Amino acid sequence: QPILEVRNVGKVYGSAPSGVEALRSIDLEVRPQEFLSIVGPSGCGKSTLLKCVAGLEAITSGTIRVRGEDISGPPSQMGIVFQRDLLLDWRTILENVLVISEFRGTRTDELEAKAAELLVRFGLGDFQRRYPWELSGGMRQRAAICRAILDNPELLLMDEPFGALDAMTRDDLNLELARLWQETRKTVVFITHGIQEAVFLSDRVAMMARNPGRIVDIFEIDLPRPRT
Ligand code: ADP
Ligand code: ADP
Repeated sequence: QPILEVRNVGKVYGSAPSGVEALRSIDLEVRPQEFLSIVGPSGCGKSTLLKCVAGLEAITSGTIRVRGEDISGPPSQMGIVFQRDLLLDWRTILENVLVISEFRGTRTDELEAKAAELLVRFGLGDFQRRYPWELSGGMRQRAAICRAILDNPELLLMDEPFGALDAMTRDDLNLELARLWQETRKTVVFITHGIQEAVFLSDRVAMMARNPGRIVDIFEIDLPRPRT
């Protein structure tokens, strides 16, 4: 059974005649433990699609199911990483990683220990008590990934998470993401406009085009996994 099923989804921002048709007839299935990238030019609806999946935007037509259930609102089994890390500047890195569990009221000593472990794993062990503004962009994005995976979500959604970083930092983080994925086999939906990045990371790539935003091709990547 697919973890995520998107069926004939349409999304229009605003209303006719001035509405923007951001998505038309989107069909997509994401299988358990798959790394799927969505690629396409700016404005083709990648972010919109991810927000609809996350329950952050309402769809205009069609259905989205997670594990066979219709979604409404951001379900707890998803972790999300955006291009902007959205770390809270007045909280330490450790406190940022724990912020979602705090909102949910699920924070425990055990989870705190896990957060600390994750930060070590992502090379941020010495920065747990520092504040986001003391860290580089790449480090901040690592912290955002830790926050997204702390609760062990079934589905990890990433919207151009490294898009704002310089090329070297981006390469580093792509390698780390590949390594994380190989260790955990988390189901990932990853948005990028970089086809190389998508091919490097993914099992499958969905290509989108714009006006209206739609999927024009989905193909399997049949390469040996990167050695990490
Ligand atoms: P991408 O992520 O591929 O760059 P987006 O999903 O951001 O594409 O945008 C798809 C289309 O929807 C674009 O034409 C964009 O201008 C429009 N759009 C995105 N968000 C909104 C919004 N909140 N209100 C109106 N139009 C939007
Ligand atoms: P990206 O292409 O990286 O998704 P954009 O610069 O297209 O980023 O959009 C940034 C944010 O602005 C997104 O949250 C998107 O939904 C919103 N947005 C994009 N286009 C419009 C629009 N025409 N009207 C209102 N919001 C928009």
